[in-house]
Amino acid sequence: MIRFEQVSVRFGAVVALETVSLAVEAGVLCTLVGPSGSGKSTLMRLVNRLVEPAGGRVLVRGRDVAGENPALLRRSIGYVMQSTGLFPHRSVAENIATVPLLLGWDRPRIAARVTALLALVRLDPELAERRPAELSGGQAQRVGLARALAADPDILLMDEPFGAVDPLTRRELRAELRRIHADTGKTILLVTHDPEEALELATQVVVLRDGQVVAEGAPAALVAPDAAPFARELLGGGQ
Ligand code: ADP
Ligand code: MG
Repeated sequence: MIRFEQVSVRFGAVVALETVSLAVEAGVLCTLVGPSGSGKSTLMRLVNRLVEPAGGRVLVRGRDVAGENPALLRRSIGYVMQSTGLFPHRSVAENIATVPLLLGWDRPRIAARVTALLALVRLDPELAERRPAELSGGQAQRVGLARALAADPDILLMDEPFGAVDPLTRRELRAELRRIHADTGKTILLVTHDPEEALELATQVVVLRDGQVVAEGAPAALVAPDAAPFARELLGGGQ
């Protein structure tokens, strides 16, 4: 579903990614872990062309993204950011409807979809007319998730989606995500700082360090005694 072939990214003199190759099969929940600045967000943002490679290729659904229209590509891929990125002057319902509106859905279809999504992310329908500033951090993240899911994309990108919420809400949101993944079979790329989250949610874990993939595989394999020491250390695999 997503394939990186020898991809490098530079920002001026900074090498953010260095010849990264990685394949994420359809239906996989792939977590990206690594120290701050290791290139996790950059790797994710290549998928929806918020970042362009200096070398190599990024294939989405078997097609080189360099040949895709960025706006259309982004409409086909859900994206949840750490800061939620909700539009402050739009209501919850309007935020959730962002992509359906761009796609030209009619009003009744959008209204029905917003209602269904509020239920899916377990938000009270009463919140639909609120502004983002009137929500708790956890509620705002749920709205961000609902917005990303609005047009039922087959790929979901999530950049530290639960980073800014309290531990209890974090656990709840994690459970919602697991349920949504199990129910829909979407391909999900999720950046996280939290080793427990990375291991618990993932089918596939990718460990980045200094712009390179240093380990990749099933969660159990990365904490096994013969796993790469850096991965074991980062993921808490013990000595
Ligand atoms: P992570 O998400 O793992 O913390 P990033 O992918 O955000 O790491 O960043 C990787 C490297 O690229 C870092 O050195 C960061 O400072 C740099 N970088 C990322 N985005 C930009 C940008 N837009 N302009 C300049 N440097 C950037
Ligand atoms: Mg980041």
